Amino acid sequence: MPPTPPFSDEHEQLRASARGFIERELAPHAQRWEEERWFPDEVFGKLAAQGLLGLKYPERYGGQGGDYLHEAVLIEELARTGSGGTAAGIGAHVNIATPPIWKFGTEEQKQRYLAPAIRGELIGALGITEPGAGSDVAALRTRADRVDGGWVVNGEKTYITNGVRAHFIVTAVKTSEQGGHHGISFLLVDRGEGVSSAKLEKLGWHASDTATISFEDVFVPEENLLGELNDGFKLIMANFQWERLAMALGAVGAMQLAWERTAEFARERQAFGRPLSGHQAIRHKLADLATSVYTCSCVTYDALRRFVDGEEPLREVTMAKLLTQRASFELMDECLQIHGGAGYMREYWVERAARDARLGPIGGGSDEIMREILGRVLAL
Ligand SMILES: Cc1cc2nc3c(=O)[nH]c(=O)nc-3n(C[C@H](O)[C@H](O)[C@H](O)COP(=O)(O)OP(=O)(O)OC[C@H]3O[C@@H](n4cnc5c(N)ncnc54)[C@H](O)[C@@H]3O)c2cc1C
Repeated sequence: MPPTPPFSDEHEQLRASARGFIERELAPHAQRWEEERWFPDEVFGKLAAQGLLGLKYPERYGGQGGDYLHEAVLIEELARTGSGGTAAGIGAHVNIATPPIWKFGTEEQKQRYLAPAIRGELIGALGITEPGAGSDVAALRTRADRVDGGWVVNGEKTYITNGVRAHFIVTAVKTSEQGGHHGISFLLVDRGEGVSSAKLEKLGWHASDTATISFEDVFVPEENLLGELNDGFKLIMANFQWERLAMALGAVGAMQLAWERTAEFARERQAFGRPLSGHQAIRHKLADLATSVYTCSCVTYDALRRFVDGEEPLREVTMAKLLTQRASFELMDECLQIHGGAGYMREYWVERAARDARLGPIGGGSDEIMREILGRVLAL
C-alpha cells in the first residue's frame, strides 16, 4: 500500500524500524513496568542509540536532522509499547520538555541541555501545572525573585510527567507582579538542592512518574532563563500546538492498534457456534470503530500537514485534540466490551489501554478548554 499523505516511503521505512525496536525492546517489558510503577531510565539511552530521541532536531546537537513528520511516526508507533506510562515519559521528554529549548534557547543552553537530552543522558520534564493553576495557566504562583546572578525560586508544581526522574525541569515561574498572562517566564531548573519530588498514584499511565515538585529557595543562575523575561506565555502557547498534535497522533496510533487486536480477537473467539465477528452486532461495532479510527487519522493528518507546512493551524490542531482523545477512550471501552470478561482482566492489554486513554480528554488542555479555544476561533 502506498503511504498515507503526509507520510512518504522514507517515513514508512522509519516506521518499520521504530516498530521493530519498540516491539523487541520495549513491549515485552510493558506489563512488568506497569506493575512496578516505573520504567527504567535506561530506556532513554536505548532510544537515543537508535536516534529516536532527536528525530526532528538538527545534527549539530546530535539529532537526526529530520522534521515533525519523522517525530509523528515515532509518536504513533510508541502506542505499540503497550504501556501508556512509558510512552508518556518518553513523549514528555521529546515533545514538551525539549522543544522549547530548541526553539527559544540560547546556543549555550542547547549545548548544555538539548544535546545531552538527545543522547539520552539528561531526562527532561515540563513544569507548568500547579495545585492552583491547571487550565487557568495564568494563575500560576511559583515565584522567581531576582538576586545577584540569577533568581531564587519558591513554589510547587503538580501532575508533572517525569517529575521524579527528570534531571532538569523547564519551569514556568512568575517573574513580575503583573497579573494575567504577563510576568510569566521560563527557567531551566536543575534537580539539586531545594528541589524535591513526590510520585502520585493514578488511574492509568502507571509506568510513568507523575509527580509534585516543590521548589524551596532554589537558586537558578541568570543563564538559565529560557526565552524572554516576562514573555513566557508565548512559549507556553507555542509549545501547546505540538503537544496537542502529538496527543492526537498518539491516540490515532493507539486506536489503530486496539482495533487490529480486537478484530483479531473477534475473528477467533467463538460464541453460539460462530466467531464473534460472525454476529452482526459485533461486526457493525467493529465497522463503526474502524470508521472512527479513519476519521481521527484524517483530521489529525490534515492538522499535521498544515503544521508542517508552516501554517498556524490553531483550529485544526484544537479540533484534532478534541476529537481524538474522547474517541480513543470510547474506542478502548468498546474494545474492552468485545473482549467480555477477558477485557476486565489485568492480563489482557485492553483494560490498561482503556485506563491509559482516560487521560487524553484531561491532559494538555482539557476537552472543555479545546471547546473554549474553538469558541474564540469561530468567533462565537
Ligand atoms: C497524568 C498527567 C500528566 C500530566 N503531565 C503534565 C506535565 O508533564 N506538565 C504539566 O505542566 N502538566 C501536566 N499535567 C497537567 C494537565 O495539563 C492538567 O491536569 C490539565 O491542564 C487540567 O488542569 P487541572 O487538572 O488543574 O484541572 P482544572 O483546570 O482545575 O479543571 C477542572 C475541570 O474544570 C474544567 N474547566 C476548567 N476551566 C474551564 C472553563 N473555563 N470552562 C469550562 N470548564 C472548565 C476542566 O476542563 C476540567 O474538566 C498532567 C496531568 C495528568 C493527569
